[in-house]
Amino acid sequence: MKVVKKIKEMQKLADKYRTQKKIIGFVPTMGYLHEGHLSLVRIAKKKSDICVVSIFVNPLQFGPQEDYHIYPRDFPRDKKLLKVLGVDIIFYPEVKEMYPEEQLTFVQVRKLSEGLCGRSRPGHFEGVATVVAKLFNIVKPHIAVFGQKDYQQAVIIKKMVKDLNFDVKIIIAPTVREKDGLACSSRNIYLSEKERKEAVVLYQSLLLAKEMITKGERNPEEIIKEMKKLITTKSSGKIDYIEIVDADTLQPIKEIRGKVCIALAVFFDKARLIDNILVQSG
Ligand code: AMP
Repeated sequence: MKVVKKIKEMQKLADKYRTQKKIIGFVPTMGYLHEGHLSLVRIAKKKSDICVVSIFVNPLQFGPQEDYHIYPRDFPRDKKLLKVLGVDIIFYPEVKEMYPEEQLTFVQVRKLSEGLCGRSRPGHFEGVATVVAKLFNIVKPHIAVFGQKDYQQAVIIKKMVKDLNFDVKIIIAPTVREKDGLACSSRNIYLSEKERKEAVVLYQSLLLAKEMITKGERNPEEIIKEMKKLITTKSSGKIDYIEIVDADTLQPIKEIRGKVCIALAVFFDKARLIDNILVQSG
């Protein structure tokens, strides 16, 4: 397994593999890897000849009051985990390698970026789309795997790829959860023992929503009301948003119909946790 820190070296390797007709599979991450990330790597490996994982905490996607500086990092541990999985290359650039001078070019995916997390994190998805576009031009993958855990992000990247004609196939992989249902996240490390226990209520509220839909509830407001009740009575979490949106357009809906995404963001002190499920209603 090679650790590549320079863009030019990564591009040269990608060109070499492409000349050899090797399929490049890619998983972009911010490191501090958990089972969720590892599941994406396993999928990428299965579908490619050369598996590249990037580890880069991208300053562009963090707001000024957000956790960029304290975001957990542990490269030696990540490296060991990826070696065990048989990853071929870790692309691990420094910030000044990715942004050597002021970046004046940004990728904005309108509409899809405006609601949900985009509303509470202005500029976030512009930062994400921009760094992913850069990474695609550096790693030159045929396939890239993203997690459903960040569903809005995955939908935005798919649209960016379509609109800008990137020659990359995007795969969205299922959310990996801890035994009690909490979605794996690098940010779970911020939780105190008490908050960690309480945080299971997020997934429980999503399951409650799914059950209500299965039983015939079609009014999103009724469902959101019950979810809020559950979260606020069973935890100290502060709800940022709970929304039910069309799974393709990410626009809020007045009536549950077709495939919907139930998404939430909840603060447990400084930890902002997100989760979602997709539900196919009748
Ligand atoms: P991050 O390091 O948080 O930027 O995440 C890197 C990739 O891992 C993104 O595509 C995420 O959607 C994905 N990911 C994060 N958590 C999970 C999870 N629990 N299950 C599946 N994929 C995940």
